[in-house]
Amino acid sequence: MNRQNSGQFVRRDIQAHISSDALLNNIEQLRSLCAPSVKFCAVVKTNAYGHGIKEVIGLLKDAKVDFFAVASVFEALHIAPDINKQSILILQPIHPGLGDEYVIAAAQKGFHWSIASLQAAEYATSVLAGENGTLNLHINVETGMDRCGIEPELVPKLIDCIDASLNLNLAGIYTHFATADEDDLSFAYEQLSVFKDFLAHIGLASRKDLLVHAANSAATIKMPESHFDMVRCGIAMYGYFSRRQANPPIRLTPVMKVQAPIIQLKKVQEGKSVSYGRSFIAQRDTLVAAIPFGYGDGYKRIFSNAAKMKIGQTLIPVIGKVCMDQLMLDVTDVSGVAVGQMVTILEDSHDSPCGAYSLAGLADTICYEVLTNIGPHVSRIVHQAPFKNLKFH
Ligand SMILES: *Cc1c(COP(=O)(O)O)cnc(C)c1O
Repeated sequence: MNRQNSGQFVRRDIQAHISSDALLNNIEQLRSLCAPSVKFCAVVKTNAYGHGIKEVIGLLKDAKVDFFAVASVFEALHIAPDINKQSILILQPIHPGLGDEYVIAAAQKGFHWSIASLQAAEYATSVLAGENGTLNLHINVETGMDRCGIEPELVPKLIDCIDASLNLNLAGIYTHFATADEDDLSFAYEQLSVFKDFLAHIGLASRKDLLVHAANSAATIKMPESHFDMVRCGIAMYGYFSRRQANPPIRLTPVMKVQAPIIQLKKVQEGKSVSYGRSFIAQRDTLVAAIPFGYGDGYKRIFSNAAKMKIGQTLIPVIGKVCMDQLMLDVTDVSGVAVGQMVTILEDSHDSPCGAYSLAGLADTICYEVLTNIGPHVSRIVHQAPFKNLKFH
């Protein structure tokens, strides 16, 4: 466990502004859809969907959040020192290929860990024999996602194995929906019914502290029958529906806004080209601004000659190929443009042409990917007040 990265540097000039208000408000909105007894699991995997896991944990550790869900034990160990009251749930299942020291650390720190095989339970039992601490396990039951759940008929044997081990504790049973974000919820309701049948047959009523959970953001919002004891929300907490909604049932506010300064202004004569491959040819004398943000920072190359950014309220086109660490804008029509002025790369708005939904549409992807792409070296700046008070510098 002593392997270290070379240390993450931070670029002060390229900035992801994180709104505490928006984040807490979104959680409040989601909680308002649930019965008061339903626990809230804040999904913070993949650097909190690109928002900065340390910053998001900092904002939520004293909030009404019961669990933090991460993808791996490595993220769990990364955030554990920052957390006092919440439990940490590791979503990727425990398996024998990790290194025994991680299983021992997880038990000592009281982590909750997904499990989806008998083999993994036997492995954990043998690793933890004679060790201190109890590893809390949540069985991921397969109901139709077919990623890494365990088939329902194998669960009784797995439970026996967990019960027989002094160091293992059955803390939860859950499933995951494949289509809760789609308009047609029929498959999601099929999954829910498989899960409910499974629960009825397995007979867990006598287990007092067992947490049953199923809902991601979309199911939390659209399938109240799927809330059980806890909901696991990611994307909605960050201010987005899994896909753009015409009539949103609750009001979610995007949490992150990404900006970078103009570092160079240049006049390009009509007929000349801009950037690699000469894919942009100036149709007029053009004022070109260079921005120190590229595909290496999380702005996809497919946005070349297609996406827009904003200076103040003025929309400006990205011209030429997006480079690894820079891109160019046509700022000919922006009055008073100057080096050092901040440009909005990703706006905190559902409707903006430079919002995450629009960018996802351009890249034929989902807003999750646009958000998680924002690199860890982009500085995260937490705001307690709304962004309206943002200073440009
Ligand atoms: C990522 C994930 C979630 C959160 O999904 P959202 O759609 O972002 O709410 C919930 N549960 C599991 C198992 C996940 O992997």
